[in-house]
Amino acid sequence: METRIELIQGDITKLKVDAIVNAANPSLLGGGGVDGAIHQAAGPGLLEVCQLLGGCKTGEAKITRGYKLPAQFVIHTVGPVWGVGDRNEESLLAGCYRKSLAQATVHGCNIVAFPNISTGVYHFPKDLAAEIAIREVKNYLSSNAVPEKVIFVCYDAENFSIYQDLLSK
Ligand code: ADP
Repeated sequence: METRIELIQGDITKLKVDAIVNAANPSLLGGGGVDGAIHQAAGPGLLEVCQLLGGCKTGEAKITRGYKLPAQFVIHTVGPVWGVGDRNEESLLAGCYRKSLAQATVHGCNIVAFPNISTGVYHFPKDLAAEIAIREVKNYLSSNAVPEKVIFVCYDAENFSIYQDLLSK
């Protein structure tokens, strides 16, 4: 496995890293899944600042501080909902990873943790989402020194096993 990529199974809100990525919705005002867990752990300060951001487009990313989280920053990105709209979900998901990493670079975040964006209630097929995530992260790291390390955080066993297989190739 590429030494700048790490894989773990667990809860992203527990990680003491420079930045965790949130699979947010376009309002940036919180939701279920990983978004709900991040807001719960960060406390009300995160919601207050998110209210000032004016939302976020699908495939884009915005950054805030982490408030009560162990992580210093939260990078909020909006993944595509699978099966609706222009059917350009694959490029939108790739955009989430690239734009999130670009935010990390600008803010000097050396260790960045990603959840499996769009693979929960947004129903993106997990295999395809993992392929896109790994491809985009590898491409980005090959031409950028910061972040030094990216951690893929899988919450469910199915995603964890998909990432294990793909990363061992
Ligand atoms: P989306 O709307 O982008 O699909 P979800 O939050 O529903 O977002 O799901 C995205 C992924 O986040 C899913 O694979 C889900 O298992 C995972 N997830 C849920 N809670 C956590 C958590 N606390 N830490 C890391 N990943 C999580």
